Amino acid sequence: MTTAAPQTTARPQSAGATLSVRNLKVHFPVRRRMFSRTREFVNAVDGVSFDVGRGETLGLVGESGCGKTTLGRAIVKLIQPTSGEILLDGQNIAELQGVELRKKRRKFQMIFQDPYNSLDPRMTVSEIIGEALDIHGLAANGGRTQRIEELLNTVGLDPIYAQRYPHEFSGGQRQRIGIARALAVEPELIVCDEPVSALDVSVQAQIINLLQDLQSRAGGKVSYLFIAHDLAVVEHISQRIMVMYLGRIVEIGPAKSVVRTPKHPYTEALISAVPVVDPDAKRSRIMLPGEIPSPINPPSGCPFHTRCPIAQTQCQTEVPELRQISERHWAACHFAK
Ligand code: SF4
Repeated sequence: MTTAAPQTTARPQSAGATLSVRNLKVHFPVRRRMFSRTREFVNAVDGVSFDVGRGETLGLVGESGCGKTTLGRAIVKLIQPTSGEILLDGQNIAELQGVELRKKRRKFQMIFQDPYNSLDPRMTVSEIIGEALDIHGLAANGGRTQRIEELLNTVGLDPIYAQRYPHEFSGGQRQRIGIARALAVEPELIVCDEPVSALDVSVQAQIINLLQDLQSRAGGKVSYLFIAHDLAVVEHISQRIMVMYLGRIVEIGPAKSVVRTPKHPYTEALISAVPVVDPDAKRSRIMLPGEIPSPINPPSGCPFHTRCPIAQTQCQTEVPELRQISERHWAACHFAK
């Protein structure tokens, strides 16, 4: 039998948070057998709580299927959460619908993984960026063309391309258009969902640098939730890193601290898989047995116990709380020190 995740009173928090997520759950109903009346659920996100500080970049990592993209999509309300709170400026957007949600959308935007499918091929660049301005009435008093040109300049694209269509651009240029579209409404939070994983390595660095540059130019007004499976990229761009496994947070802390002194065996395994450039710096790879278990029927106790190299009997029955290990570092392992 699966034991429910414990509710802790203390949370990994940031002072003056832009975003506060509280006990968020996203459960998708599935029906396993034909004619079966029994409903089962994929527990894609299973009670996560964290903050993103003002002007902060919080990196979110984990294997495919850990729930990180579902969490990002739930935060920007592309998926309706099952329960929990998403507090943006203190307002719970999880319960907003219709006109109220549309008004609030200006505050949070998303940059998508696939720059090929995230732009409407029938619209010009000018129409794509202008649409965001029109929806939120940000160019009602004229200056629409000038604002579009400004945004293209900001993301390093020549405004003479404004009347071109997405197919006329490279992957990196399309991602820049996606970033310009997100910036058009001057959001406080941008969820970056694997924004560089579909790009060539040389272009990845340009986009990462652009995101960092835009954030520092915004003077601490824009926060990022940066989702990626590449820990090296996440360490480079993030102030803090959060690690997810099977829909739950297993570790969260300052980026350097998580990467150099991980507290959770799962994080250790992820870090051991990051290639090291220095040939003298030896790092032995921790191979995890098996695949990530099904989120329909997650293991009892610690959800990681079926793959954990240091699991004990206690791990099969007792769910480890996400607990504070040091001042800003939290981990969900009975034996984390
Ligand atoms: Fe491994 Fe047990 Fe810690 Fe879970 S609680 S990570 S199974 S040692």
